[in-house]
Parts: sequence; C-alpha cells; structure tokens
Amino acid sequence: MSTQKPALHVVATPIGNLGDITARARDILASVDIVLCEDTRHSGRLLAELGIKAELRSLHDHNERQRIEQVLGDLDGGKSLALISDAGTPLISDPGFALVRALRDAGHDVVPVPGPSAVISALSAAGLPTDRFSFEGFLPGKSGQRRKVLAALASDPRTLVFYESPRRIHACLDDLATEFGPDRRVVIARELTKLHEEFIVGSVADLQASLAGRELKGECVLMLAGNDSESSGIGLDADTLLKALLEELPASKAAKLAARLTGESRQELYARASTLAGKS
Ligand code: SAM
Repeated sequence: MSTQKPALHVVATPIGNLGDITARARDILASVDIVLCEDTRHSGRLLAELGIKAELRSLHDHNERQRIEQVLGDLDGGKSLALISDAGTPLISDPGFALVRALRDAGHDVVPVPGPSAVISALSAAGLPTDRFSFEGFLPGKSGQRRKVLAALASDPRTLVFYESPRRIHACLDDLATEFGPDRRVVIARELTKLHEEFIVGSVADLQASLAGRELKGECVLMLAGNDSESSGIGLDADTLLKALLEELPASKAAKLAARLTGESRQELYARASTLAGKS
C-alpha cells in the first residue's frame, strides 16, 4: 500500500516535451497504488521513460461510468490513485469529469497536481489579451454547426481559444471570415513544446492567404482576439444590430438604419451587411 493518502490525484503530464513533467507529478505517479489513464500502452511508455513502474488501469469516455464504482471501492479500501490523460491536464477536453464529480459527491479527496496544458501554454505566448478569455474546446467538425457556434461568439469581447484539428484549419478560417469578418486577429499555436513549435499570427484574411496550399500537421490551438468593435449607443455591437435588421430589411436599408443608430460609416456597414446577408 502506498504512502500517499487515499485520494485521487489529478496529474498533468507533458504535451510534447518530457522535460515539462513536474517533480511533484513524478513523485505522485511513482508512489500511488493505481494510475488511471486513457490508453495503458501510451501511458506505459511515458511512465517507462520516467523510470516509473505503476499499476495502470484504463479510464476513457467509454468506460468512465463503470470505473467509478471500482475507484470508490479502492478509496474506501485506503488506496491512493492518480488520473492522467494522454497529454496535458486531465479533464481539459479529456475524460475524468464524471469520476471527479462522483468522488466529490461521495466526500473523497481529489487533489490537483498542476502542470502543462495546451490552452494555457498557447495563451501565455500568443500576444492576445489574457485578462479575460473563453476556452471553447473543440469546434464541431461540420461547417454548418461550426458556423452556428462561431456566430454565437462573434460579439464576445473576450479572447477565444479553441482546440482544432490541423486538417480543418482552412475550412475553419473560411468560416471565421464569414462570421467574424476578415480583420479579426488570429493566432495558431502549433506543436507546442515540440521540435516544430510554431506561432502563426495575423488577421483571418492574412492567414487564409499565407496558409493557402499548405498542409498543416501536428496539434493546434486556435486563438482569436475578442470583438473590440465599439458598442453602439443601444448596447449592441454592429454585427448583432445588422443581423437583427437584416431579418426585416435589405442590406442597403439595414446599413442606413444601423449607421443612423450607431454613428458608424454607412459604407462600411453596407459592406458588412452584404457579407452577412450573403450567408445561407
Ligand atoms: N488535456 C489536454 C490539455 O491539457 O491541453 C488537451 C487534450 S485534447 C484531447 C488534445 C488537443 O489539445 C489537441 O487536438 C490540440 O488541439 C491540443 N494540444 C495538445 N497538445 C498540443 C501541443 N503540443 N500543441 C498544440 N496543441 C496541442
């Protein structure tokens, strides 16, 4: 039996660079009775590289519910456990939420052991405002659903952070151009902490041009500056106002009315209204 107290330790592991494992993470992983992980082969390799021998047990989206009873029994029996994911911080777009909720509800200790996470690593070096941000996880794979999600975020003033597959980056930039306009600042953080780490920075239109014909590889975090357009005097940003007006009016009339209400340029509002009206 381990010297650790009976608790679930939620342990962050590297997102690419093994050197990012913390001393405390190592100690905990080496001393708990059981390590829960998404994929025992993947995590077995990580622990072997760290020189740690541990009893590994799988916990993934398809068996998390069944594992809960077993873990409750382990903790009641005085065992200590750690939860890790394939990379980064468990529960951040990774399994573990149902387990942690159940353990808290049952009054067990759940102990965070912090370390790498792609969202925080990306934000820390992107050069976008970080005083307020919204982590949105993975965007839907289908364009229609993705545009719906993006449309609901278009007027959000906070920095937006998404996990995105590199295969979908081009389609995603096209949807961003439609929903956010071509000028919104974007940062793509690719292969963080790895050999080919790269930050790609520019407006949506810049990145559409510079990435055209390039196949992105590896793992990506997509970040967007929040909407900083002046709020109109009636408490709405121009896009929200135009969208509402376009439900009743043609683009020219919507732009004319929006210009009167907001004091913004009628020509610019007309251009934006035409883009918005062109969408299905
Ligand atoms: N739990 C992890 C964390 O704390 O970041 C995230 C797991 S999620 C299943 C995997 C996604 O995280 C990837 O598709 C990618 O969007 C992002 N990611 C993970 N490692 C990354 C890296 N080294 N560079 C860029 N993005 C990464």
